[in-house]
Amino acid sequence: MSLLQDLQNRSGNTCELCTATTNLKIYEVPPTSAGGVDGSLLACDTCIDQIENPSTTDSNHWRCLNDSMWSEHRAVQVVAWRLLSRLKAEGWPQDLLDMLYLDDDTLAFAKATNEGLDDSEKIIHRDVNGVILETGDSVVLVKDLKVKGSSMVAKQGTAVRNIRLDHENAEYIEGKVDGQQIVIITKYVKKS
Ligand SMILES: [Zn+2]
Repeated sequence: MSLLQDLQNRSGNTCELCTATTNLKIYEVPPTSAGGVDGSLLACDTCIDQIENPSTTDSNHWRCLNDSMWSEHRAVQVVAWRLLSRLKAEGWPQDLLDMLYLDDDTLAFAKATNEGLDDSEKIIHRDVNGVILETGDSVVLVKDLKVKGSSMVAKQGTAVRNIRLDHENAEYIEGKVDGQQIVIITKYVKKS
């Protein structure tokens, strides 16, 4: 079965956020590394538009989270958490947020885009020059690095494409060197 079919079955062919039944699409919850059914949900155009364009957020539309935040599906919980965080200054979203319990992994996933977080709570990855790194960026190593658990040395100047961020630690990113996924310390890379 395709991802779309899986999501249609799971949701009964309704928007998993607001229960609309038309213009439904797959929404892959960023960062999409989780992917698949667990990292995606079925949502309508209205919901997806507002998720992706925060300036168009209509807080009344998101009263629907009152119900959908109780979904058993992680992707739905994560999006609900992000939207409620975005809107928390309105009061009622903060009340819902206070009731929404997420396990540690799910909470880390929810916070991974820094949506709705105060500056002090954000985990921001910076390269050797202080430039902000994001998932999918390419970097170059600025010194030779021993790769933990192997005899390999990743040489200075090596390009690492499509990095991933460690969402619990601003000092770590991950990327592939010689086909091997390794953890790299941000101060030893330069964004390219
Ligand atoms: Zn919707």
